[in-house]
Parts: sequence; structure tokens; C-alpha cells
Amino acid sequence: MHYTDTIDDSRQYLRLALELIGKHGLPTDPLNYCIWYEYASGRNEHLNQSIDEHIKKNGSFSVDVLRQIYNQHVIGQAETVTHLVREELKKVFAEIIGTIKTTRQDFSESENKLESINDALVPDLPEADVEKIVHRIKQEINNLEVSSSSFREQLRQATHEIDQLKLKMARYRKAALKDPLTRVANRRGFEDTLKEAIGKTGGAGSPLCLIIADIDHFKKVNDTHGHLVGDNVLRMVAATIKDSIKGRDLVARIGGEEFAILLPDTPIDGAEKLAENMRLTFEAIDLKKKNSGESLGQVTLSFGVTMYRHGEPTEAFIQRADEALYQSKETGRNQVTRF
Ligand code: GH3
Ligand code: MG
Ligand code: MG
Repeated sequence: MHYTDTIDDSRQYLRLALELIGKHGLPTDPLNYCIWYEYASGRNEHLNQSIDEHIKKNGSFSVDVLRQIYNQHVIGQAETVTHLVREELKKVFAEIIGTIKTTRQDFSESENKLESINDALVPDLPEADVEKIVHRIKQEINNLEVSSSSFREQLRQATHEIDQLKLKMARYRKAALKDPLTRVANRRGFEDTLKEAIGKTGGAGSPLCLIIADIDHFKKVNDTHGHLVGDNVLRMVAATIKDSIKGRDLVARIGGEEFAILLPDTPIDGAEKLAENMRLTFEAIDLKKKNSGESLGQVTLSFGVTMYRHGEPTEAFIQRADEALYQSKETGRNQVTRF
């Protein structure tokens, strides 16, 4: 995390954060302070959206939800790209403007000097004075050369800084599309890729399928073994799904314990088969706790599978996969439903 707020701004965010923590009846611990400081500063658009939506839907916050918000929106995303760009560009601009000002001053001094030399060029100037004048002109030209080469050097440096900034931005952009816990794509990464994939289905309508998978009774894993074990299970699930797909397929963590698997150029039968294979893989894994070797029992997943219908809105596509998943949950979990 990287904060560059002024003392006054940071004090104001602190007051607002404390107020919000009080309003929602939460403990004033560092995790809450971090979340609500970010919220109060308004710099983390996705965090604010997520919190506002949660308030609208539920009214109050559980420890789990706050932890989830922290994992998703604070870790790795504190320094948003826009904030970074604004701060660093400001620095580069200040440098360029400073350079222009200095160079302008140098040039205008040279201009004055050259003008006064010009004025001294009267007819019948004695030879000795002509020589002096030539010497002064040479000196001025030399001064101009020094100023303009230092101007060029400083511009070269500014260009280099901007190039570095571009590289940094690309790195941050990439990180902003990843889920820091599982290292697979996050919801934003999924949405970006989905948009692209729908664009590529084209007029011929090459098949694009979507699987949404949700861990069954995951709350129980957390309640029984604690959140750290829960986090490891999430990592294992993400890695196992990743191992089951190939090439241009994408897996993303789109919610707490919910994953989307996007399958371009894949007919619905193939997608359903893949989901069924994944289901069987999870069913067969006997998960053990890392340190004690104690068994966690079976961790199963429910799946919803659907194929993109040419021209339909993205939300309709996702919703159909969600409905299929819901049916899998309703009919006993650990199943695959195709809509
Ligand atoms: P269902 O079979 O109906 O899906 O039941 P469930 O318990 O999996 O679903 P529910 O929505 O009731 O609970 C989801 C749980 O996922 C609650 C929350 O504690 C947990 N969770 C979400 N994100 C994280 C996370 O980042 N880490 C951990 N450890 N748990 C998380
Ligand atoms: Mg679940
Ligand atoms: Mg869920």
C-alpha cells in the first residue's frame, strides 16, 4: 500500500473512518481502519461500490464480509492506477515546466545581450572593437548551445521517466485484474476477457461457453477449521480448476468462493463434460491440513453450464449460468446443471 495524502487530508479521512466504523458498530481494529480509511478517501472506486452494494443488500457487516472486502479491494489494489498516474505525471510535468522556465530565462538573457551587441555595431567601428564584439557573439552562441543542450538532456530524462511510468502502469493494470489470494483473474479480469470473447464469437457464432462453479457449504470449512484453512482451500480449488483447462480458457474468482470458467470455441457438450470431470476431480480429492495432516473431508463444488446465444446481452449469459448453478445447489449440490 502506498499513501501520499497530506497530513490534513489524512486527518480528515481518519475522522470519517472512525465515524463510519462507529456507525456500523464495528471494532476499531487495523483491518477496519484500513478498509474505512480507503472508503473515506474515495480513492478505491471498487471498494466503495462493493461496500455500498453490501449496505444496500444487508445493512450490516460480518467479520467474513469485511475480510473478503479487505482481501479483494485493499491488498494489492490500494494504489489504483489513476492515483499513481496522477501523482507521477504531476512530478514529470513540474520538471518539464521548470526546465522550460529556466531555458526561457537563459534565452531571453541571450536575446538581450545579442541586441545590445547589435546596437553597438555602429558604422566606423574600430577594428579592435569589432574583434571584441565577435568574441562576445561567440560567447553568447556558446551560452545558447549550453542551455539548449541541457534543455534537450532534461527532456530526454522526462521522456525516460514517462516510459518508466508506462511500464509501471502496465504492471499495475495487470495486477488489478488478478485476485491476490488465488493468483487467478478477478471479477474485473473476467469481465474484460468475457467482453473480448463475446466480440470474437462473430457472425458465424463460434461456440462460447461459461461454467460457474461454487464451493458447497464453504462456510462450514471456515467455521470448523478457521479462515486460514479456508483461504488455502480457495487456493487449491483455483489451482485445480486451472490445471483442468487449457489454452485460451480462463478461470476467474468472481466472488468469495465462486469461480467462472470461460471456454472459447467450445461446444456445450464439451463444456458440460469438462464441468463433470472437474466435479469428479474435487470429489476424489482428500484434502488435508498443511501442518497437521488432519483430513478436511470432501470439498465438493456445484456447477452451472451454459452457451452464449448470439447477440444476447452479457448479463443474460451470466445469469443463465447462475441459474443453472442455483439448480445444482437446489437439487442437492455436487452436481452439474446445463441450461
Ligand atoms: P452453498 O453450498 O450454498 O454455496 O453454501 P456456502 O456456505 O458455500 O455459501 P455461503 O454463501 O453461505 O457462504 C460463503 C462463505 O464463503 C462465507 C465466507 O466466509 C466464505 N468466504 C468468502 N470469501 C472468502 C475468503 O476470501 N476467504 C475465506 N476463508 N472465506 C471466504
Ligand atoms: Mg458456496
Ligand atoms: Mg457463493
